[in-house]
Amino acid sequence: MVGTAEIQNKIHIHTNLFSDTATMPTPGMRQFIANAEVGDEQKGTDPTINALTKKVCSLLGKEDAIFLPSGTMCNLIASLVHCSPGDEIICDKTAHTLHYEAGGSGAIAGATTYPLDGINGVFTLEQFETAIRPASRYFSRSRVVLIEQTSNLGNGSIWPLKSIEEICARAAELGIARHMDGARLMNAVVATGISASTYAAHFDSVWIDFTKNLGAPVGAVLAGSKEFIKEAWNHKQRLGGAMRQAGIIGAAALYALDNNIERLKEDHDNAKFLATGLAEIKGISVEPVETNMVFFDVSGLGITPQEFCQKLETKGVQVGAIWPSWVRAVTHLSVSRAQIEEALEMMQEVVNDYR
Ligand SMILES: *Cc1c(COP(=O)(O)O)cnc(C)c1O
Repeated sequence: MVGTAEIQNKIHIHTNLFSDTATMPTPGMRQFIANAEVGDEQKGTDPTINALTKKVCSLLGKEDAIFLPSGTMCNLIASLVHCSPGDEIICDKTAHTLHYEAGGSGAIAGATTYPLDGINGVFTLEQFETAIRPASRYFSRSRVVLIEQTSNLGNGSIWPLKSIEEICARAAELGIARHMDGARLMNAVVATGISASTYAAHFDSVWIDFTKNLGAPVGAVLAGSKEFIKEAWNHKQRLGGAMRQAGIIGAAALYALDNNIERLKEDHDNAKFLATGLAEIKGISVEPVETNMVFFDVSGLGITPQEFCQKLETKGVQVGAIWPSWVRAVTHLSVSRAQIEEALEMMQEVVNDYR
């Protein structure tokens, strides 16, 4: 994705559809943070963090969980626990770990990656099987299968439960660990009505992010077996992810679990509304919308996604350019239906300017 931070600094963005990381803590969340009880997180005595991890355990149906500063660190620590250097992670070619985490699982866990050519971030059992390497002195050891729910670069698409079941069952037979990057798992849950624990049951490790659509300023929680989390703690300490009065930030995540899940439906409705409006603009072709992401192609207008984004930013609306030809707009709790309507008008204006 092309960074547009320089532009953002220059002009006033009133509608930020660049990412659902743009959510701002609401007054209710801020109040909850102000009242949070705190202790010493790395000693296991911060009551707010303990309440948070307990709640995530029951949400995901896992034995234990650990609070971490970011989703990136969740993926990294899962790689560190599951892999020895030279082991391989099988994932889709669009995986966040592969593109936006500074090569952490390779650089720090020593793991190699086998990217699969899925459709919208979702690969098949057959594709997974072609990636499994036979035991040989020549090969990396196939060690982890990683599934991203929802798939970020796959238009926010939802992994069907059946595909998860098939692939994870095969992986389990082969002793391959199953890891879910559940940054936006709750979007899939709200869109399908399938519970988070039903999805998570097929995985050894799974995490959810609080800084995306759940609207908290910081934090993610990684969950798994007691044994897995014990190992994860050792890595958290080593990486400098262990904290002190972390309840101050964990409170926002706790608040999000109680207040910001069901409302994800509004974001999905807003995304569909935006997609429907965009589809009516000649020269724009829109991908199907499953959750809170709208991917559209502007090549029919004879312009690059970067040009489209820059033009739109001069009108105060920020979206992202995604290689090679996509524009991505992400709906979230800090963007209202009225703002979406206005953003759509601005997009129409940009198109008119080019005609
Ligand atoms: C944002 C994201 C991450 C990383 O999470 P951070 O909290 O930003 O470190 C990982 N995977 C996916 C799919 C994401 O969208």
